[in-house]
Formats: sequence, C-alpha cells, structure tokens
Amino acid sequence: TTPAATVTVTGAAGQIGYATVFRAAAGALLGPATPVRLRLLEVPQAARAAEGVAMELLDGAFPLLASVDVFDDPAAAFEGSEVGLLIGAKPRSQGMERADLLSANAGIFSVQGRAINDGAADSFRAVVVGNPANTNALIAASHAPDVPAERFTALTRLDHHRAEAQLAIACDVSVNDVDGIAIWGNHSASQYVDLTRATVQGRPAEEVLAERGLDRQWIDDFFIPKVAKRGAEIIRVRGGSSVASAAHAALRHVRTWLRGTDEGRWTSMAVPSTGAHGIPEGVVSSFPVTCSQGGYAIVEPWAVDEFSRARIDRSVAELLAEREAVAELGLL
Ligand code: NDP
Repeated sequence: TTPAATVTVTGAAGQIGYATVFRAAAGALLGPATPVRLRLLEVPQAARAAEGVAMELLDGAFPLLASVDVFDDPAAAFEGSEVGLLIGAKPRSQGMERADLLSANAGIFSVQGRAINDGAADSFRAVVVGNPANTNALIAASHAPDVPAERFTALTRLDHHRAEAQLAIACDVSVNDVDGIAIWGNHSASQYVDLTRATVQGRPAEEVLAERGLDRQWIDDFFIPKVAKRGAEIIRVRGGSSVASAAHAALRHVRTWLRGTDEGRWTSMAVPSTGAHGIPEGVVSSFPVTCSQGGYAIVEPWAVDEFSRARIDRSVAELLAEREAVAELGLL
C-alpha cells in the first residue's frame, strides 16, 4: 500500500455526498492500494447528519479507511487536503433569481477557495459537482491564487457517460466499443454533446448510425436532447434526482485524472479554458481531454463543423454570462 491520501468531501450529508463517501472508502476514488483519510465538510445545520454518515463509514470497517472527520469550518476541512470533491451547493429554490443563486454559491465557493489556498496540499485537485458547477469552479480558483487554476475542474463526466451509454444502445454494442464523444461548454441544458468525432468499434459513429437508419437529424432531434434532458427523465421515472450515477461520475472523473485515460481514448472534463477550440480563456468549460501522469490535456483542436460551432458557442456564451454576473457582484 501507499501512504494514505486526504480527501475532502463537501455536502457530505447530502444525497450525492452520501453516495460518494462509501465508494471512496472502498477504493473507487484512489484505487485498491491507497488508504484514504476522509474529511467531511457540511454546513452547521447538517453537521450532525454528517456525524451520522461518519458513524456509518466506521460501521463499514473499510480496510482502506484510515480516518474520517467531520467539519463545519472550511479552513479545517481543507487542511492538508489532496483531493476535493466539492459536492455541496445551495440549490435553486422556487422563485429564486439566477443572480441570487450565483451569489449564494459564490459565497460558498469563494470561502472554500481561500481555505484551499491556505491549507490544502501542494498536489491538491478538485472536482466541483455542486451547481452551477463550472462557475463555482471558476470562483474557487479565483480565490486560490497560489493553487494552479487547472487544478479546479467541474463535472461533465455524467453527461459523457450518459452519451456513451445512449450511443452504445443505439448501435447495439458495448460501451467499451464507443469512444471519441465530446461534451462541450456548461454543465447545463445548453451543453453540446458532440458525436462528430465519436467512433463505434473504431468506425465513425455517424457512419454506423446511418447504417441503422439514424441520420444527422436523429442525432439533433433525439440523441442530443435525450442526453441533455436525462436528468429530468430520471427525476420523472425514479421520483428523485440522479444521485448514484452522479457520485459514480465524480469518482471516475478524479480516478481518470489521477490514473490516466486508456491509450487512445478520451473523456470529458470541464476545465479552465486555454483558449483551445476557440473557447475564450476565463471560463471553465467542458472539453474532450486525455489524462496521463496526474495531468490532463485538451484534445488537439480540429476543424469543427458549423453546426457544432454554433452549439459550442451558445453554451460558452452562457458561461461568459455567468462569469459576467458573478464579476458584477464583485465575487470573482
Ligand atoms: P445533492 O447531493 O442531490 O446535489 C448536490 C449538488 O450536486 C447540487 O448542487 C446539484 O445541483 C449538483 N449536481 C451536479 N450534477 C448533478 C447531476 N447530474 N444530478 C444531480 N445533481 C447534480 O443535493 P443535496 O441537497 O442532497 O445535498 C447538498 C448538501 O450540501 C446538503 O447536505 C447541504 O447541507 C450541503 N451543503 C454544504 C456546503 C458546504 O459543505 N460548505 C455548502 C452548501 C450546501 P442541482 O441543485 O442543480 O440539482
């Protein structure tokens, strides 16, 4: 085994947090050889519930769980932290204006960014799950000037997984046969699920779909909305929002980042734009990426077709508007 790694989970008593911590304790985050020290952060009202989660974690007698501690103070929770799963966020309530949502979350993520700046380990990496995830990641990064900005990422892996699964179903193949999907832009309804570079058993996905009578129109009218609206469909059918699949995606996001993508394969992560693919710097946007040796690289730009360009630009415009709104509130 390797030395224990310190992982901070925010919103640990919430639904996604609850679904995440047990699997992290079982090795799904850092692998079967790395013990984990869990630091659970909650708001004071939920700290007692988080204590209950910690008790259940102890009751799991997980061989890899080196310690579990509960905090309601971000500075303490991020002390020595190497991985941050930033799940807790203020949900949109009935009648809430977008500016109120942004400002409530900016309050949370600016404080956490500062705590990370002051106390986290040099190797610290974060994935933001709490919405608006991309902009929350931007805010946290902007309050952590001593931490490289590229360490603050946001989750679009669930969207990526949903697209992989739906493409595999449409082509009647295993998800292992599917690659090259790209999720672009914001983790919101404006996201663009791009199949133009996707492959199925090594062949262009659009070609394989066409053989099954599924053309570009089907992709636009059925596939893309199916993935973008999957969260709402889950709520309708399950009677509750996506929880275990979101937790799984967050764990996989970090696991892939640390371990690397398989040779020749991609994933999607929302990361600070480098200006690549015509997406301006200053936003945290989803991109197709490869990972290796604890880092990630945006997949080399290609000549994006007109349809994709318009969809990417529309989602990026939403990110720029969120950024503008937060900047106007003086929170960046
Ligand atoms: P969930 O655990 O269900 O969701 C947590 C966050 O994940 C929400 O912002 C949610 O966004 C977001 N999310 C991102 N992607 C997805 C997805 N694909 N499907 C569903 N959700 C997604 O919320 P709970 O209310 O159960 O738990 C939140 C917890 O966070 C509470 O315990 C609260 O006390 C805590 N909290 C902690 C803070 C802290 O540690 N400082 C600060 C604020 C809250 P959306 O709302 O859009 O569904």
